[in-house]
Amino acid sequence: MTRNILVTGGGTGIGLAVARHFAEAGERVFITGRRADPLEEAAKALGAEPLVCDHTDPEAVAALVDRLPDPVHVLVNNAGGNTDFDADGRTDLAAYARDFRANLDANVLTAALTTKALEQRLAPGGAVIQIGSIAADTGAGSYGAAKAALTTWNLSVAGLLGPRGITANVVAPGYIADTEFFRDRMTDQRRETLVAATKTGRAGAPSDVAGAVVFLASPAARHITGQVLHVNGGAHGTR
Ligand code: NDP
Repeated sequence: MTRNILVTGGGTGIGLAVARHFAEAGERVFITGRRADPLEEAAKALGAEPLVCDHTDPEAVAALVDRLPDPVHVLVNNAGGNTDFDADGRTDLAAYARDFRANLDANVLTAALTTKALEQRLAPGGAVIQIGSIAADTGAGSYGAAKAALTTWNLSVAGLLGPRGITANVVAPGYIADTEFFRDRMTDQRRETLVAATKTGRAGAPSDVAGAVVFLASPAARHITGQVLHVNGGAHGTR
C-alpha cells in the first residue's frame, strides 16, 4: 500500500532527508515550507508534492488540509528551528516577550495546529512524529522550553490517537550538520565542542534523523507511542 505522508518543513535539512527516505520507498510525499523556491526545487528532485504553508497560521494550515489527500497515514511535524537566530538584538522586556513567543509559535504551535487540523484525516494504524531537540533536556532558552513543551504535548497526542492505533512520538536530534538551522552562525570552535560531546565523535547527519522517523512510522513500531527517541550520538544519555 502506498501511504500519504506529510513532512512539514520538508524543503531543507532534516525534513528533506525524511521526505527523501519516504519518497525512495515509493510513498506519496507532500512537503511544506514558507518559501516556494527551495520547496519546489526539493519536490522536483524527490518526486514529492510541494505545498507552501506557514504552519503558525491557522488559516494557512486549514487551506493546506484542503489540498491533502484523505487519509494521511504519516504526519511528520518537522517545521521549526531556533528563531533567536533571527532576533534583532533588542533586549527590552517587550522584545524578550516577542522573541520568546516566536520560538513557541515556531516549534509548538506549528505542530499543534497541523495535528489538530489533520486529526480526523489520520489513518488508523498511522503515525505522528514530532521533531524535538536535545535542547528540551539541556536548555537553550526559549527554544529549549519550546521543544520541551512539544515533547510534553506529544503525550496528549499519543493518548488522543492511541485508541485509533495511531502512534505519536518525538525524535529528538542532537547537533545535526548540513541544514539551515544555524544560519551562518556555527563557528569551528562551537562545532568542535558539539562533536566532542558525542560518543561517536561526529556530527549527526539529516539521514540519521530520517532513519529514526522512518522506523517510528514502520510496521515494526506499532506499539511504540508517547516516547522520545534521541538521535544525538550519545551527547545526552538517558537511563
Ligand atoms: P532547517 O532550517 O534546514 O529546516 C527547517 C525547515 O522548516 C525549513 O525548510 C523551513 O522552511 C521550515 N519552516 C520553519 N518554520 C516554518 C513554518 N512556520 N511553516 C512552515 N515551514 C517552516 O533546519 P533543520 O533541518 O535542522 O531543522 C528541522 C527541525 O529539526 C527543526 O524543528 C529543528 O528545531 C530541529 N532540530 C535541528 C537540529 C540541528 O542541529 N540541525 C537539532 C535539533 C532539532 P521555510 O523557512 O521556507 O519555511
